[in-house]
Amino acid sequence: MPEGDTIYRAARAMQKAIGGKVVTGFETGLAKLARVNDDAPLVGRMVEKVESRGKWCLIFFSGDLILVTHMLMSGSWHLYRPGERWQLGRGRMRVVIRTVDWEAVGFNIPVAEFHTARSLERSSQVPKLGPDILSENFTVDGGVARMAVYGRENPDAEIAAVLLNQRVLAGLGNVYKSEILFAAGVNPFRAMRTITPREMESMVDVAQRYMKANVVDGNGDRIVTYSGNRRTTHAMDREERLWVYRRQGQECRRCGATVMMRKQGVQARSTYWCPACQPWVGDGEAPVGRARLVRGREVP
Ligand SMILES: [Zn+2]
Repeated sequence: MPEGDTIYRAARAMQKAIGGKVVTGFETGLAKLARVNDDAPLVGRMVEKVESRGKWCLIFFSGDLILVTHMLMSGSWHLYRPGERWQLGRGRMRVVIRTVDWEAVGFNIPVAEFHTARSLERSSQVPKLGPDILSENFTVDGGVARMAVYGRENPDAEIAAVLLNQRVLAGLGNVYKSEILFAAGVNPFRAMRTITPREMESMVDVAQRYMKANVVDGNGDRIVTYSGNRRTTHAMDREERLWVYRRQGQECRRCGATVMMRKQGVQARSTYWCPACQPWVGDGEAPVGRARLVRGREVP
């Protein structure tokens, strides 16, 4: 049975493969979808983004059309190169989205429907996103209020996982997560019940400032949170632009302690922190991480 994190990985893989690409072909065995495609064809639209919300996968097309799927027990999305042999029979195909380079094939998908932004907003089934940090309407107070409500409902949730939860605040990825926690001096493994309103305010404020400062960059590859004392004209390496992200084993830029890394949460995302600048608060021992620098590129 696909769990939320499986859907999450599938959505991320699909985003990488077909995100930003133009649809060159669309097929479906589902009459409801075929009717929409007849009236408002998918071919020629751009795949704006693919995202997961819990066990739902949402594919956003240009022109206000969103394909919403739920896998239940049996469904799955596969990615193939054009002409590559599918692992499951054609009879199980429910949806195919083709681009020049890829075919995204949905097999055995029991729940699939098209939405507009408006009908999605009204749908009671699909989980809603939290306030979008980059939205014009976003306020620090509003973000803190949302986080506080979630914290009361989930007192044991770890703060780093909460920052990644798009149903609490929408927009933060794995790089921002570690950088925001460092800037706010909050240990990533602390339970929500230990987080003070002042700390929430600090995190939401930093989140908004970092995201606004980096808004030109869509893929998170060139995020800058630390500029040091130097001004250089050439492009800096990623590790020179960040406080802690991917800096395990190196000295904290603020205090000189060794930056740590540890996989966190059901999705095992890498979390980076300074154990001195981000002290542990809570029961038991402070979590310890790896401090050895691992060579090679890690998927954030
Ligand atoms: Zn430090």
